[in-house]
Amino acid sequence: MREAISIFWHRRDLRTEDNAGMYKALSGNQPVLPIFIFDTNILSKLHERDARVVFIHKELQKLKKYYQNKGSDLRVFFDTPENAFEQLCSAFNVRSVYTNRDYEPYARQRDENMHEWFGSKGIAFIGAKDHVIFEKREILKDNGDPYTVFTPYSKKWKNHLAADTFAPFPSENLENFHAIQPEELIKLNDLGFEAFEPQFPEKNITPDLLEVYKDKRDIPSVKGTSRLSVHLRFGTMSIRSLAKKGQKHSESWLNELIWRDFYQMIIFHFPKSIDHEFKSKYAKIPWSKNMGHFEKWTEGKTGYPMVDAGMRELNTTGFMHNRVRMVVASFLTKHLLLDWRLGERYFAEKLLDFELASNVGGWQWAAGSGCDAAPYFRVFNPESQLKKFDPEHRYVKKWVPEYGTSSYPEPIVDHKWARQRAIDTYKKALSS
Ligand code: FAD
Repeated sequence: MREAISIFWHRRDLRTEDNAGMYKALSGNQPVLPIFIFDTNILSKLHERDARVVFIHKELQKLKKYYQNKGSDLRVFFDTPENAFEQLCSAFNVRSVYTNRDYEPYARQRDENMHEWFGSKGIAFIGAKDHVIFEKREILKDNGDPYTVFTPYSKKWKNHLAADTFAPFPSENLENFHAIQPEELIKLNDLGFEAFEPQFPEKNITPDLLEVYKDKRDIPSVKGTSRLSVHLRFGTMSIRSLAKKGQKHSESWLNELIWRDFYQMIIFHFPKSIDHEFKSKYAKIPWSKNMGHFEKWTEGKTGYPMVDAGMRELNTTGFMHNRVRMVVASFLTKHLLLDWRLGERYFAEKLLDFELASNVGGWQWAAGSGCDAAPYFRVFNPESQLKKFDPEHRYVKKWVPEYGTSSYPEPIVDHKWARQRAIDTYKKALSS
C-alpha cells in the first residue's frame, strides 16, 4: 500500500517561513510533499529572455535546498497543472492538496477547474490566505458592497486589525515532510528560457529607510523606496512581516501595502476590469492610432526627459520608480491619447515586479477610468514633474545621457496642445 500524502503547491509564495498554506499542510495528518509547476499555459506567452523566470528559478533552488535538508524535496513540473497532478496521483496516494489563494482571474479559473478535478478523485483541495492581509469579503462597506475608493477602504482595513493579524505562521517545529529522493531542478534552457544573470533587489528593509520614506519616496534619483515589489509579487517575503514593520515605522509605507491589498480585491470583485474600463463610460474615448508615438514612448525618445528616463530605466532594469510610472502612464494616455491597455501590456512584459492587479490599477488610475482615479482634466505636466522631483536632473542624466545636447529629440507633441486635446477628447466622449 502506498503511503497517503498531502501536497503543498507553491505558486506566488516562494518561501517556507511564515507561509499560511504550508503551515496548514504541515499541521495535517499526512506527510507533505511540496511541489511547484512551471505552468506551460503561462510560460508559453513569455519571451525567452525573461528575468522573472530566472528569479523564480533561483528561488526554487533555495526551496529545494531547504526541503532536501529535511530529507524531502521540492518536486518541480513543467506542464499544465492537470497533467502535473495526473503524474502525482499515479505516483503517490494523494489525499489532500494545500495551496495559498491567488485572486487573478486566470488563477481563479485554474483553481476552480482543479477543485472539480480533485473532487472527482476524492482529494481535498484546501486554500489559505497568504498573499494579502485581508481578502474577499473581509473588508466591505457597511451595506455589504466592496469598496471602490481607497481612503474609506484603508480606514476600515486599519480598524479591522487585531492583535494577531500580523502574527507569523510558525515553521520551525513542523517537520512533517514526505521523505523522497532528491532530483535535479530542470534547467532554464530546458524550459525554453535564456539563462542570464539579472540583478535582483535585495530582501532587505531597514527602519532607517522606512523612517525617511514619507519624505524621499517621490525622488527617483535616491533609494527612497523599498524595492521589495518583486519579493511581494512572488511571495519571497511575507506580507504580514512587512505590514508589521510598516505599522511600527511608517504609516505612509503601510498605506502603500494597503493599496496593494485594495487592488488585489478590486480584481477579485471586478475581474473584468483587467481589460475593461472600471468606469464604463470611459470606454467611449476614441484613442489615437499613432503607433509611431507608441514606439517612441517605448524607446524613451519622446523628447520629455522624465518620460524618457523612466522608459529607459524600465527597458534596462525591469524597474521604474513609482512617481515616474505615474508620469509615463499619464503621458501615454493623455499627451499621446493612446489606449491604456497598450501601456499596461508593455509594462506587463517588462516589469520584474509585474503584478496584474497593481498594474491595471495604476494604468486605469492614470487613464482616469479606474475605480479611484485622478479626474480626467488633471493632466500631469511632465516638465513641472521634472522640476519638482528631479530638479538637478540626476535621475534624467543617469538614464538619458544625451539630454541637453543636440542629439536629444524635440518633444513629439507640444504639451499645451496635447493637454487641451486630451481634455477636449475626454470631455466630449464622457458627455456623449
Ligand atoms: P515601495 O514604495 O517601497 O512600496 C512598498 C510596496 O507597496 C511595493 O513593493 C508594492 O508591493 C506596494 N505598492 C507601492 N505602491 C503601490 C501602488 N501604487 N499600488 C499597489 N501597490 C503598491 N506595482 C507592482 O507591484 N506591480 C506592478 O505591475 C505595478 N504597476 C504599476 C503601474 C503603474 C502605471 C503605476 C502608476 C504603479 C504601478 N505599481 C505596480 C505600483 C508601484 O509603482 C510599485 O509597487 C512600486 O513602484 C514598487 O517599488 P517599491 O517596492 O520600492 O515600492
